[in-house]
Order: sequence, then structure tokens, then C-alpha cells
Amino acid sequence: MTKILHRSISTTLPRAVAGEGICITDSEGRTYIDGSGGAAVSCLGHNHPEVLEAMKVQMGRISYAHTSFFTTDVAEQLADQLIELAPDGLDYVYLVSGGSEAVEAALKMARQYYVEIGQSQRRHIIARRQSYHGNTIGALATGGNAWRRAQFKPILPETHHVSPCYAYRDMQSGETPEAYAERLAVELEDKIIELGADEVMAFVAEPVVGATLGAVGPVADYFKRVRQICDKYGILLILDEVMCGMGRTGTIFALEQEGVVPDLVTIAKGLGGGFQPIGAVLLSETVYRAFADGSGLFQHGHTYIGHPIAAAAASKVVEILTRPEVMPNVLKMGDRLQAGLDSALGQSPYVGDIRGRGLFRGVEIVADKDTKQPFDPARKIHSMIRKEAMQRGLMCYPMGGTVDGVHGDHVLLAPPYIIQPEQVDLIVERLAAAIDAAVKS
Ligand code: PLP
Repeated sequence: MTKILHRSISTTLPRAVAGEGICITDSEGRTYIDGSGGAAVSCLGHNHPEVLEAMKVQMGRISYAHTSFFTTDVAEQLADQLIELAPDGLDYVYLVSGGSEAVEAALKMARQYYVEIGQSQRRHIIARRQSYHGNTIGALATGGNAWRRAQFKPILPETHHVSPCYAYRDMQSGETPEAYAERLAVELEDKIIELGADEVMAFVAEPVVGATLGAVGPVADYFKRVRQICDKYGILLILDEVMCGMGRTGTIFALEQEGVVPDLVTIAKGLGGGFQPIGAVLLSETVYRAFADGSGLFQHGHTYIGHPIAAAAASKVVEILTRPEVMPNVLKMGDRLQAGLDSALGQSPYVGDIRGRGLFRGVEIVADKDTKQPFDPARKIHSMIRKEAMQRGLMCYPMGGTVDGVHGDHVLLAPPYIIQPEQVDLIVERLAAAIDAAVKS
């Protein structure tokens, strides 16, 4: 009899008792391939000995020192590593304990930045429909997923949403990617003007949309146009790399592939690799200077920010991510995963699109391939796929509401970067069988 309020009260979960490499074993002795890294978290697999050792060493030194009294070598080291890796223009780090905290901190940072520079009228946040930025009140309000927001809407702060960059469904036939990017840019600019250009503080977007769309990257030039518009109106660009960052798409930061540098970036998930809860906001010199030359403090903070053991785990994870074999394996195995999915599912009448970058791939399920008509949401195809996959020893990350927050289903794959070719093939085989069983059930 559990005393935990589990995510879903009606289902009985298996008990995870061990993790090794890319697999998790439950108390019944069943082993599951972690094809989704949980929720795109376990980038180095489970029980990585070097990360565990780094945590143990730190525990032997100091486990906790409140950040209003002390800094620590390990937190400073992690910040140095992240800035060394980040594109030029991202110069400082604010450490937190997860993705939602990172997004909340970035929003408050944006707001305080404008207060510091004497533009306290700026208050509007614009984000995109079909995005996910976390579950705390500010992050949930920023996200554009109708289902997640619905019952909490009356208590969410005001935010505004424009279209996502979702070529599979929204790029019109005959429209070029450039023209599509331009159409979306015009929509953003119109929204800014509608709200009052000097009252908008930030535009928030995931470079590659994860949970809500299933590994949907932008068309070329989209983020360049977004950056230009933000610059034109003096609006901060916040890119949320909580899911797609830390090497998931084959580069440490997904935004490196877009040729833009935002003012603020949020990271989490793969940063701690599941070994510790940790997240961060990376910020530009300009934002930092506004605080440093202004009030001299960022009016924020949580008890566990900059936690030394979390920083030790993340520092080791980041060091491993930069080893010469790791990103090439993400790209190589990512290509293999895409090719495997294409060949196993490309002809399926129920698979509309297979997409993604690196080891971040999405499969969109449809009832009719030609019209892209989704399944009736009452069939809960995504839940069925999860169940069928688990029965076949595969963890994947299916989600509903892909099209509009209610209709549509997709499956997200985000396996650990240490994955080997035969394991990629097993994921494909098991997922194909699970999708087949789910749509036939
Ligand atoms: N931002 C993005 C893009 C995410 O995918 C998530 C979680 O899935 C979050 C923020 C929230 O992160 P967390 O669940 O660690 O609070």
C-alpha cells in the first residue's frame, strides 16, 4: 500500500531496483531499455562509475553550504566549464535544481533586468503554443500546451502565445522553409506590436521542442529572424534547452545549430544526467552588468541552489560530454536511430512523421497518413504505446495533444549517449511492435 501520491493514482508502477548502462531493472527482475533517458535525462546511462565517484569525493569534502554564506570550488568549476562551452555572448551562470526552476529564474531575471535599466513597464512574456517550459506557475503559464494549462488557467500569470515552428503540420504546401520562417516572424512581430513593443520583456522558445511536439526542430533561419525581431524591439530572447540541450541533439547546446546567441539559456535534465537534480540559467554580460551596476543583487534564490554534490555530478557529466568520442556517438547513433525508424515505420499507415536531431527523435502517430488526421483522443493511443512498450522491455516517452493540446499522439526517444548500434536496433524493433499493437488494440 503506497503512501506516495503518484503521478497517476490508478496505475501500479513497477519498482526500479537497479540501473546499469542504458537499462533499468525492476523488482520482478524485468529489464527495460531506457530508450527515453526517463524524460531525456539519463544522458550517460545509469550508475556511471566516474560520476558516482565525483559525487563521493565531494561528499567527503562538503555536502551543503548555503549560497548566501559561501561559494564552493565545485560550483565555481561547473560555471567555468559551462561558460567555456557556451557560445560567445553567454558569460555567467545561475545554478538551480531543475528545469522549471531554471525557467522561473530566467523569467524573473528578464523582469528584473528591465527594472534595473529603467524600463519597468516591460512585463509581457511571449512564448509559443505547443511548448513545454515546466510545471511551476510561471513556467506553466509560459508553456503553450492547452491540456497542461487548462485547469490552472485562472491562477496563471498573463502570457501570450504565437505559433510554433512545426513544419510537418503548419508549413503550407508550396511554401518554402524560408517563406514559412518569414510568416512566423511576421506573426511574432505583429504580436509584439499588438501588446506594445516597449511593454514586451521576453520571447521564450525551445530550440528543438521536446515533450509537447516530439523532437521538432525549426526550419532554417527561423531563429535568426526571431533574434532580429527581439533586437529590433529590445526584447530578451530566452531559449529553453532544458530538454534539447547538453548534447542531446549532437552539439552541447542545440542553439549552436541555429547560429544565434540568446540573452538567457535554461538547461537542466542532461546537465545532472539523472545523478543529481540540477539546472542552470546562462546569461549574457549585458544582463549581468545591469544587475552588477544596478541594485547589485538578483532578487531570487532557493535553499538548494548551487548544491555541491549536484555541482560535482554535473561537473563530471559535462567533462564526459566533451570527450572526443561522445558527441560523434550521439550523431552516429542518432542517424542509425532515424534510419532504423524510417525503415521499420516509414511505410506504416499510422506513422505520419519521423524527425529529430542527434539522439532526440520523435515519431508522430496519425489515423490517416494522407490527411494527417490524428486518432480520436479518447483512444489514448500514446498511453497504449507506453504500456505496450513497457511490456516489451522498452521505456519511451509517448505524449498526447501533439496537434493542439488535445488531439494527436507522438513518441519521443532520447536514449543515453553511450548507446551501441545493436541497442539502437532493439529500440526500433520494440517500438515498432508496440506501436503496431497499440493501434490494433
Ligand atoms: N523546459 C523544458 C523544455 C522541458 O522539457 C522541461 C521538462 O520536461 C522543463 C522545462 C521543466 O523541467 P523540470 O521537469 O526539471 O522542472
